[in-house]
Amino acid sequence: MDSIDVVVIGGGQSGLAAGYFLRRSGLSYVILDAEAAPGGAWQHAWESLHLFSPAGWSSIPGWPMPVSRAPYPAKTEVINYLARYEDKYALPVLRPVWVQRISRSGDQLLVEADDGRQWQARAVISATGTWRHPYRPAFDGLNTFAGMQLHSAYYRTPEPFAGLRVAIIGGGNSGAQILAEVSKVAQAIWITQQEPAFLGDDVDGRVLFERATEKWRAQQEGREPNLPQGGFGDIVMVPPVVDARQRGVLASIRPPARFTPTGMQRPDGSERPIDAVIWCTGFRPALSYLEGLGLVNAHGQINVDDSKVRSVAEPLVWLLGYGDWNGTASATLIGVTRYAREAVRQISDYLRSSASSTP
Ligand code: FAD
Repeated sequence: MDSIDVVVIGGGQSGLAAGYFLRRSGLSYVILDAEAAPGGAWQHAWESLHLFSPAGWSSIPGWPMPVSRAPYPAKTEVINYLARYEDKYALPVLRPVWVQRISRSGDQLLVEADDGRQWQARAVISATGTWRHPYRPAFDGLNTFAGMQLHSAYYRTPEPFAGLRVAIIGGGNSGAQILAEVSKVAQAIWITQQEPAFLGDDVDGRVLFERATEKWRAQQEGREPNLPQGGFGDIVMVPPVVDARQRGVLASIRPPARFTPTGMQRPDGSERPIDAVIWCTGFRPALSYLEGLGLVNAHGQINVDDSKVRSVAEPLVWLLGYGDWNGTASATLIGVTRYAREAVRQISDYLRSSASSTP
């Protein structure tokens, strides 16, 4: 069995950002990743996906993402960037390795992969993202619906929906972008809990990062954030979404009362036939392998301390990249850096102090 200072679980952008700081820390470490190739969840995104911010706002620490020919980099550019990034810094990524369990072993953690490999770690950074845990809300009658269903996690192109009556459910960026392209080949309706909130046409995802930074600064300074109206999930008016609005398809309706075998029933009892549903209803943290430690709470999250990166109940576990509960904008390329830096700083301090106090 290998014994090591730090095991990072997950080799997407969050795991690589942790690797960047670990490399400079002098600690021994390895990054275990379940994918067959670099790029984390970006490899699974739909074919036409582009970032909602320019490359300069989409970099992880150290080497910036190369400037794209398009205003907003395509997903393939992100995958190439992450692949070259791990080569450039010679990050020790092992793949494919699926970690299925972590347990306490004295003052260390035992990390077990499904192929029998094991690592004894003094600290673990969990950076497994959310893609492997798609979320779909419950609806009355859904189990009777006989049409096609697909979560955005597995959506690739609009072609399989050509000519169908498709309900796209979910009011975030994924819902808006998938509606934009499916509506070109299908009779698409967009279903959202409430009226979606859109950013202005003259701004892009940078505005969301500026809001996140202001929120983070305000937290550090113990003051109320000075934020404009609107949330962090407002829809960015990327060109396909602008085009959908120009075609008059960017309008949403509220959820049905229930599903039927052939479609949906509206609250007034009338029926709407539907052939397919695309669930753009988000993700939850992929933390199943930590369940044995009893860390995952009723919300599917882990209670973290004020730094947002360290588990309260298991102080040998740090977490990175799961979203706001784990650090404002931590689930974005540019946003994960400050939390990766902080996690590695804490781990270095902790391991040094625990080594010096060992007789
Ligand atoms: P992931 O990329 O999911 O990487 C986690 C890795 O851990 C994966 O390789 C996974 O296979 C592996 N793993 C999981 N479980 C295990 C296990 N048990 N054992 C071993 N390995 C495991 N962010 C931006 O900054 N700009 C954008 O424009 C943007 N657009 C987005 C558009 C969409 C549609 C989505 C869904 C997200 C977008 N994001 C964007 C958010 C974010 O950048 C991505 O979600 C990103 O993939 C998160 O990186 P990560 O490293 O935290 O997780």
